Amino acid sequence: MIRSSAVEMASALAKGEITSVALTQLHFDRIASVDTDVHAFLHLDTDGALAQAAAVDAKRAKGEKLSPLAGIPLALKDVLVQKGIPTTCGSKILEGWRPPYDSTVVTNLKNNDIIILGKTNMDEFAMGSSTENSAYGPTHNPWDLSRIPGGSGGGSAAALAAFEAPLAIGTDTGGSIRQPAAVTGTVGVKPTYGGVSRYGLVAFSSSLDQAGPCARTVLDTALLHEAIAGHDPRDSTSINAPVPNVVAAAKSGDVKGMKIGVVKELNGDGYQPGVRARFDESLELLAKAGAEIVEVSCPNFEYALAAYYLIAPSECSSNLARFDAMRYGLRVGDVDGASAEEVMNLTREVGFGREVKRRIILGTYALSSGYYDAYYGSAQKVRTLITQDFTSAFTKADVLVSPTCPTTAFKIGEKSNDPLAMYLNDIATIPVNMAGIGGMSLPSGVADEDGLPVGFQIMSPVMKDERMYLVGAALEAALLSKWGAPILSKAPSLGGLA
Ligand code: GLN
Repeated sequence: MIRSSAVEMASALAKGEITSVALTQLHFDRIASVDTDVHAFLHLDTDGALAQAAAVDAKRAKGEKLSPLAGIPLALKDVLVQKGIPTTCGSKILEGWRPPYDSTVVTNLKNNDIIILGKTNMDEFAMGSSTENSAYGPTHNPWDLSRIPGGSGGGSAAALAAFEAPLAIGTDTGGSIRQPAAVTGTVGVKPTYGGVSRYGLVAFSSSLDQAGPCARTVLDTALLHEAIAGHDPRDSTSINAPVPNVVAAAKSGDVKGMKIGVVKELNGDGYQPGVRARFDESLELLAKAGAEIVEVSCPNFEYALAAYYLIAPSECSSNLARFDAMRYGLRVGDVDGASAEEVMNLTREVGFGREVKRRIILGTYALSSGYYDAYYGSAQKVRTLITQDFTSAFTKADVLVSPTCPTTAFKIGEKSNDPLAMYLNDIATIPVNMAGIGGMSLPSGVADEDGLPVGFQIMSPVMKDERMYLVGAALEAALLSKWGAPILSKAPSLGGLA
């Protein structure tokens, strides 16, 4: 049962073949047997989850009308607050903090009776591409435990790939949902910016951060998307418009007559051969399914990475100022005679890891008077140019596509001392955040040279998220016939974890 899709689990629940309590317990058993190796979870809420599951079973027994994902377990990235449950953001500085309220994402999950198993590991404050920047140790890729599961949401992606949960929530500022999905053979979606509320999402870079759904199939992802999305007056950037019809699109998967634009600038050299091969093959499958493949050019994407590493650190240097040893979690050096400033300095010195400090310093520099126009100002101009590139490309194509990332999962430790090499992972995912549009990664097969999964990225215009689900569903179906089974079943080590 734990290897089924959420839709299959929901059908078993509806038919009375299993209870939500039993299904939840099966997942806790799985976690108990594999998570010492995978380390996807930072915290498990066993009692809370089982109580929530019992309440759903009771509602079902009474014949109440339930949401499509009622009673299905989920893994929550530890950057979203849940009342009374530890929230660390992968940082020592928040150790021991229990938030007094629910994020809107959590409220929506609870209103849909989705069972929250616990909080997943992540790069500290979502800064990273490998989950190695967690203060609580790395997460391991279930395909090969010596490799990274991507980041920053490596815990959520690994939990899905290791069958520890059929659903997960991630957040994506520059690729943190899509890149982990790509390297673990799972599906991840960054919705349109403003499509899912940021209320209770601990801010890294507020103009880029977006929470989104993760699962093992396109339809499961769509169902979770509809459960968490929608207008929220508590988030001033939340879009007040109906949620795109993503479930209907995922069920249809009809791409006949659709124009699919290959972004020239995201289709050059620098991709691993197996990543290239799976991308080209996926384009052929989409063409066979009736889509028209065209080429589009987005010349300013070349500057996206550089601009992102000015904008994101700038916003982070401001957002992370709140961790001042007074309000949340850790406090160090609070001895007689110590000034508030000394306590603050010491706490931030001890509480933040290297990458977070690097970003705060970069951002503070970029925002400082005298440098503001040259760095932050220029980056904002580039951001506008990138948005214009997308606008023009979307006049020629309904969706745009690229490989999600340049390589398959690399070894733990391989890039941890080389920030630039790490940053390059997000070369194809960052433009999406800069423009606030939607992006999906789904598995397009495994690379011949290493047998590891490859991600295919689909990008759709603002609030046209249903288009990426349409194309994603079509590709998923075509790949299923080609490979004869879901891509995740091609992972040899998953057997070893069983
Ligand atoms: N890897 C990128 C970074 O380190 C993106 C992170 C994210 O999307 N949260 O900033």
